[in-house]
Amino acid sequence: MSRNARELLGELSLEEKAGLVSGADFWHLKAVPRLEIPSVMVTDGPHGLRKQRGSADQIGIADSVPATCFPTASATASSWDRGLMREIGVALAEECLAQDVAVILGPGVNMKRSPLCGRNFEYISEDPFLAGEMAAAIIDGVQSLGVGTSLKHFAVNNQEHRRMTIDAVVDERTLRELYLPAFERAVRQARPWTVMCAYNRLNGTYCSENRRLLQEMLREEWGFDGVLVTDWGACNDRVAGLAAGQDLEMPYSGEANAASIVAAVKGGSLDEAVLDRSVLRVLELILRAEASRRPGFSCNMGAHHALARKAARESMVLLKNEGDLLPLAKEARVALIGAFAERARFQGAGSSLINPARLDSAVEEIKFFNSSVPFVRGYDPASDRPDPALIEEAARVAAAVDVPIVFVGLTESYEMEGADRVHLRLPASHDALVEAVAAANPDTVVVLSNGAAVELPWLDRVGAVLEGFLAGEAGAGAALDLVYGHISPCGKLAESWPVALGDLPSSRHFPDGPATVEYREGLYVGYRWFDASGAKPRFPFGFGLSYTKFDYSDLVLSRSAMSDTDTLKVSLDVTNVGKRPGSEIVQIYVRDLESTVWRPDKELKDFAKVTLGPGEKKRVEFELDGRAFAYWDCDLGAWNVESGDFEIVAAASSADPRLAARVRVESSRTGHRPRDLRAVLPSYYAPRAGAFDPSDKEFAALLGREPPPRTLPPRAAFDMTSTLGDIKGSILGRLLYRVVLNAAWKTMAGDEASRAMLADMVDDMPLRNITALSGGSPSFRSVRFMLALLNIGRKKH
Ligand code: BGC
Repeated sequence: MSRNARELLGELSLEEKAGLVSGADFWHLKAVPRLEIPSVMVTDGPHGLRKQRGSADQIGIADSVPATCFPTASATASSWDRGLMREIGVALAEECLAQDVAVILGPGVNMKRSPLCGRNFEYISEDPFLAGEMAAAIIDGVQSLGVGTSLKHFAVNNQEHRRMTIDAVVDERTLRELYLPAFERAVRQARPWTVMCAYNRLNGTYCSENRRLLQEMLREEWGFDGVLVTDWGACNDRVAGLAAGQDLEMPYSGEANAASIVAAVKGGSLDEAVLDRSVLRVLELILRAEASRRPGFSCNMGAHHALARKAARESMVLLKNEGDLLPLAKEARVALIGAFAERARFQGAGSSLINPARLDSAVEEIKFFNSSVPFVRGYDPASDRPDPALIEEAARVAAAVDVPIVFVGLTESYEMEGADRVHLRLPASHDALVEAVAAANPDTVVVLSNGAAVELPWLDRVGAVLEGFLAGEAGAGAALDLVYGHISPCGKLAESWPVALGDLPSSRHFPDGPATVEYREGLYVGYRWFDASGAKPRFPFGFGLSYTKFDYSDLVLSRSAMSDTDTLKVSLDVTNVGKRPGSEIVQIYVRDLESTVWRPDKELKDFAKVTLGPGEKKRVEFELDGRAFAYWDCDLGAWNVESGDFEIVAAASSADPRLAARVRVESSRTGHRPRDLRAVLPSYYAPRAGAFDPSDKEFAALLGREPPPRTLPPRAAFDMTSTLGDIKGSILGRLLYRVVLNAAWKTMAGDEASRAMLADMVDDMPLRNITALSGGSPSFRSVRFMLALLNIGRKKH
């Protein structure tokens, strides 16, 4: 196509333009045949391609074409390996090109506020720097081949409970320092073609129509110039969304929204230039995708499988290795125990569900390591209830070998889109199995499959624990590569593991609801909490064992004093002082030694992975700019560095500092004194483990306003944002709920876990989405009519 987007824009009628800013169906953008504007496909992500070939759904139930399932984000995050992320990105792009997909919907960079969030397996980290860097790397890889990405879910979508309507109440500083920087970093560094706005509200306004978020921050501050697409069904008020900076509504929701845009332009409430701006961006996206199309492109799925295995190997984290039980000798007599060894748990449920091109199992892969290995199931993966016969058999087999290797973790229904976990335990059948096997043989190795932190009540009684995560289609072989020491484990946790859920301040306000969720803990999430409060995690952020050991030495800063407009070079030597080759992830944290405002004890500001042979030494270099020392100053509405001494800490984990050096940083901003809030925010200045529960007054002071009510007003009239769960109390509401649920079930032949997920989703679905997610039928008008009936006898609020 030789014409450019601006020329095409000039040839479109108002109606065509209003149509172009919504999809053609679930996965395609609209074509305009008259102008030879083609339709392009956008589809999920993030750790593989989910291109559906028959009926469409956004929760991974209907079938999709076979694709490589890479380890999910919580796994690859633990590789801390930007190069690996980029390689995965390239492979994803190749599969997109082979399937004629223009944009893959990912990566997801929402922060892990609580380990309970049902989608944590799809997200990268609790730390915005790590999440932003890893996201930028994968985006860069995908886009290098002319395939787009969609950075999601913008923003503060940190729970699944009532995700389509909940109002996240977060103070400005926490927002700027914790929940937005991963988006900011990925946008500035990698310029994703699209950003997907989240379902939820943020401080009272739906993200899809939040002008501050979309226009002022994302576009004006960070320079985002791509398409802002709604999450599937996140559009609330179409015209308000467009005016706020949103471009594309997905999926197609019928003609009503296009009609409302036309009416708003004609009636003068929406400037046509605003619509034009969005249409132009959509056209640019289509033209870009069109130019990258490669008909007949095919990719090497064998190479992608090998990459998936490498990625899993680089990501898994060795959590415990008592007496160097691992790596196993080739001749060790082992047994594989646990149903996951036969059928790997390798991905999470929901929109990211991949139909894997291949799927390895430990039972098959072990044959490449050891020819005669017994296998026993140990539990029924479909049930949480311990099965005494299976457990007894497992203990008997475990007692007869040198090392039993037990495969346990979370089953599918624990980690899924649309629902959060309610506790951190493994299924009781898995815990009971490990206890019994460890009692029979203390040299037990546990391989875990789960996408987020879990409690490990038997940790003291087993010999070794390898966190395998949801390791993708080739994870089983990767775990064995590590167990047998073909390579040394090098992954480090991208999230802190608490001993118990109650140790986390967020647990008091997660998931809250029904109206709001209060982020009272502010910045005290993950290691920021453990560091500042002195509470002990089970495993700290950044932690992971290796089969070798590394020494850190000779930390040098390029200067001892600087201005916040300068950059600081940091370098140190890392030496492999063990007997095996291995890789070390070096973490650089910055600590403000004296500050007026409350700050986390230290924050991650850079990292590097270095691979070393035995006895080998390398110098590793980093560069920190002024932002590495800054906090968000609410009075200034800007990043600010408070003049003073800072410590640069080179660490092997957030709890394992190895070297430190001081630098004095002078603020270039003269005359500004940060506000001392000690008197109004005492808990934040002195957080104490087990006793951190900011009062209503403190939270209001932190927010700078009274928080909105957490509950819905009793007997208030329903509106289009009321959920199907909300209306279930009345006969008519119940009826409507059942109709929607049955319709969804009918179109999706899923298993029990999918049905449970669907039921949760329908419960949390706002009435407007009955139309938005069903291609416009029933119409908004019919739903409004039902609403009027439901509201008979209810008060407007
Ligand atoms: C999810 C998105 C996904 C979209 C399309 C939504 O429910 O939140 O992450 O990309 O569906 O499947």
